[in-house]
Amino acid sequence: MNIGIVGLGLIGGSMGLDFRACGHEVWGVSQRSSTCETALEIAAVDHASTDFATLALTDVIFICTPIGLIEPTVRRLIPHLRSETILTDVGSVKASLVSAIAPLWPNFVGGHPMSGTAESGIRAAIPHLFVGNPYVLTPIDRTPTAAMTIVANLVADLQGQLLYCQPEAHDRAVAWISHLPVMVSASLIAACLNEADTEVLTLAKALASSGWRDTSRVGGGNPELGQMMAEYNQTALLKTLYAYRQQLDAMINTVEGERWESLKTTLIKTQAERPQFLRD
Ligand code: NAP
Repeated sequence: MNIGIVGLGLIGGSMGLDFRACGHEVWGVSQRSSTCETALEIAAVDHASTDFATLALTDVIFICTPIGLIEPTVRRLIPHLRSETILTDVGSVKASLVSAIAPLWPNFVGGHPMSGTAESGIRAAIPHLFVGNPYVLTPIDRTPTAAMTIVANLVADLQGQLLYCQPEAHDRAVAWISHLPVMVSASLIAACLNEADTEVLTLAKALASSGWRDTSRVGGGNPELGQMMAEYNQTALLKTLYAYRQQLDAMINTVEGERWESLKTTLIKTQAERPQFLRD
């Protein structure tokens, strides 16, 4: 199959590596020619260009640009496409994108691979990034079944774990497990940096180990991505932030009130429930 990828960064480049390994021919388009050259050098694409016209003969195009550029990219692509070309995107937020793009290009299937690293850009692309991780597709009533099947088969090529849901349900769920954790983890780092005693702060940095590595990881990731999550999923994110603040207040009350048994009960519950959010 001829696969187009627009936006050769962490996600786009990683997809290119895996699609090529499956025998697909990959046509990449990115903003900068230096990125196109790197994508060719690391063998993430067969062809690379800054010109959307080079995607004219592709069967399926994955839009892997930053979220804010996904809809403008579709508008720029459309004049170059055959009507049978399938478009799909990888944006971390779905409701606003699906409602903006579906009327522009009926052969569109919204998607979101739940995979990533703290890195960004083409040099961060790695093989097998999607293996075993959820890859959600968010079709709506008028999404053509044939387009959905073809995108689902490509997700299978990436060895992603395929899931389907409504775009709005997707945004509410990822607010809990992806966007809120970024804000909480970033707040943790920011609060720690506000420690006024420089000696304590220096010691904290020296003592930080695996627990800090786990809890600070997503707060130390790509800032643009975090900003886009808040901007494009504001309503759902705010709901989870308010609920989290309420939970923190309850935790403060419990500790201030020295209700140690109550604290332990909460921690027993969180310990028991956590595995249900994890696959391994
Ligand atoms: P990234 O590493 O920064 O890659 C995005 C790439 O898009 C950049 O390398 C840039 O390449 C290219 N680009 C920017 N403007 C462009 C334009 N106008 N036309 C063509 N290419 C353009 O970001 P990413 O982490 O791969 O994220 C890309 C998308 O994946 C986002 O929509 C994000 O929501 C989604 N996503 C990310 C993750 C994650 O954890 N990172 C997970 C799931 C989904 P140049 O060097 O050419 O400018």
